[in-house]
Amino acid sequence: MGEVKSVSRFRRKFGVQGTAPESPVRVLLATLPPCCLLTDAATDLDHITGLQDDSNRGNSKDANFSASSSLRIILVGKSGVGKSATGNSILGRMEFTSKLEAKCVTKKCQQARGTWNGRSILVVDTPPIFEDMPPTQDWYQDIGDCYLLSAPGPHVLLLVTQLGRFTAQDIIAVRRVKEVFGAEAMRHVIVLFTRKEDLEGEPLAQYLANVDNAGLSRLLRECGRRFCAFDNRATGDQQRQQLEQLMAQVESLERELQGAFLSTLLSQEAQLLLQQKNGGGECSEEHRRYLGLVQRELKKQRQDLSEAQDNCLRHRLRRLSHWMVSHLWIFILLVCILIFLVIFIDFGIPRGN
Ligand code: GDP
Ligand code: MG
Repeated sequence: MGEVKSVSRFRRKFGVQGTAPESPVRVLLATLPPCCLLTDAATDLDHITGLQDDSNRGNSKDANFSASSSLRIILVGKSGVGKSATGNSILGRMEFTSKLEAKCVTKKCQQARGTWNGRSILVVDTPPIFEDMPPTQDWYQDIGDCYLLSAPGPHVLLLVTQLGRFTAQDIIAVRRVKEVFGAEAMRHVIVLFTRKEDLEGEPLAQYLANVDNAGLSRLLRECGRRFCAFDNRATGDQQRQQLEQLMAQVESLERELQGAFLSTLLSQEAQLLLQQKNGGGECSEEHRRYLGLVQRELKKQRQDLSEAQDNCLRHRLRRLSHWMVSHLWIFILLVCILIFLVIFIDFGIPRGN
């Protein structure tokens, strides 16, 4: 009843005509002034209304989770590896611009929807936000958009990298993913290798077992060895098959996390901002506040990550020194053997005059 009243108040305020029995959320959204960056997210009415279905689930584990709710995937990774092409393969249509260019062609975060076996999938494509660059105002804004477009939080961070080319920039991209999405990010990562055709029929797991790349091995360990490969130029059965393999990984991840999506302070704030816009509140001031929070939170997450790495190093050094102390007698023995060898060699070798 209250909802209907507020809709009428809203209709009066913004001069909305007509009496068609529409959903209050749709009425409110249709009448919103174009006041902030939220346009993509806010005009996607299904997305906004859909958010209400599972906005409360967050990281809490839902024992009765079903894969019926919308699946949200964010494409992450360095530029030029095929993120947009992968998004198009998932959606089965050319939604995102994907080109080989010296400069990245994806300029802003974008979202698009598709379905898989009747289940709705939301894919968010990202511009270069995982590069080795000092943070700028645009960077914070892009990340703010990414959170808004994937609110209330992504189920999967699809980390895209090129098969056979896992470089120092990819290692930086992984670090940025942790900085942007927080400490829990790696639990939601699936690694997707593009250019599957380069395998020439060799099974991916077999190829990875023989790869000598410490950075890649660490990444695969950190994300629980969830990986798959796409040939983004594939069509027909081949395209369907690779998508099935990705979805099998997604489903196993969802089972493991019992349906939980990645919920951080920023994803909760993004959700609140959308709900505010949803409810017809004035949002330009709120949006500015949100961007300020994005900036502060990202600085904090970067610092936390550096501290965690320092602590990890310190912890390893401490363990090594403990081990050395507890195995002191081995060192004493080794030193004695060395001294004995030196004396033996010194006396054993005849010296010429
Ligand atoms: P993004 O910057 O990460 O979004 O990369 P794009 O999607 O724009 O892709 C960069 C280039 O890689 C484009 O020319 C794509 O056609 C190409 N590409 C992406 N995936 C594949 C793949 O699986 N196989 C081949 N051969 N080319 C690919
Ligand atoms: Mg792109």
